[in-house]
Amino acid sequence: MGKKIEISSKGYEDGSFQPYEFKRHAVGERDVLIEILYAGICHSDIHTARGEWGEVSYPLVPGHEIAGRVIGVGSKVAKVRVGDLVGVGCMVNSCQTCSTCSSGEEQFCEEGKTVYTYASKDVFHGGALTQGGYSNNIVVDEHFVIKIPNHAELEKIAPLLCAGITTYSPLRRANIKEGDEVAIVGFGGLGHMAVQYAKSFGANVSVFATSESKRDLAFSLGAKHFYNVKNSEEMQGLNNRFSFILSTVASSYEITEYTKMLKVDGEIVIVGVPSLTNPATLDATSLIWSFRRKVSSSLIGGIKETQEMVDYSVEKGIYPMIEMINIDELDQAYERVLKSDVLFRFVIDMKSLK
Ligand SMILES: [Zn+2]
Ligand SMILES: [Zn+2]
Repeated sequence: MGKKIEISSKGYEDGSFQPYEFKRHAVGERDVLIEILYAGICHSDIHTARGEWGEVSYPLVPGHEIAGRVIGVGSKVAKVRVGDLVGVGCMVNSCQTCSTCSSGEEQFCEEGKTVYTYASKDVFHGGALTQGGYSNNIVVDEHFVIKIPNHAELEKIAPLLCAGITTYSPLRRANIKEGDEVAIVGFGGLGHMAVQYAKSFGANVSVFATSESKRDLAFSLGAKHFYNVKNSEEMQGLNNRFSFILSTVASSYEITEYTKMLKVDGEIVIVGVPSLTNPATLDATSLIWSFRRKVSSSLIGGIKETQEMVDYSVEKGIYPMIEMINIDELDQAYERVLKSDVLFRFVIDMKSLK
């Protein structure tokens, strides 16, 4: 090993994807070289590629829902072996020694050294920008590699690495008890995972969505109630109803529309990230008049918890619904995500990358 790895990928530039060749950093003694077999398309990929969360450099290779197989390891790697199935999520490195990293929350590294999987300055490799999973291989520090059980449905594991952990983590933290009333706002890639986790933790799950066509799907994934946000009659009489709400909405809305539906001391956790130009708003006056409620946020989950989430999902058979595409269909897939025209996650079959 020791030499830089040549990579084929699709890079985003000027509004579309083109073939792009680049080099990954060399496989260090604690690094794992992974052949990427599947990569999920997350709404964050689109926000980032289009510069909606701030300026980025192009070409940009998105993708932080990665599933594949180990094809090389550095001399000191102990966690995985060549041939193992593995995943990579939203981050590929951090300081690994500060108090939050040590407690398993590398996404909040106090040194500010969390390296995200793409469009992120890799301070451990000369500050080069990282490139993500719409590519044939990736090199990752072993600590950030997630082990995937051999009997898992590998193509469906990919979206767990972001959509799965983003919803699993706050729902786990909510200490849901059997019969608790829990609402999931937004029913897309994140929301349809959240419904399954909340149900598996014993909640009575309600779904808030804007598309009537998703009503039956919500019930089939375990929801007990479905509210069409566009139907003002259905939105009546819901005050003081829920102990916990998870909002996965990635477009503009007013958060206090939901805080008033919480019970006293109930909590809404926000995981959906709208664009900077079309933000969600939180009106303080309306918040006070929703009485005493908690509004909080959550960002993915740590590596230990991500491993726990993958193992839990495989054990319980909790998987995303996916639509598999070839890599040449990326531009159309992005358009369809923006129209919410996918049930529920696109996964790229990386065999289609020449
Ligand atoms: Zn994501
Ligand atoms: Zn740290």
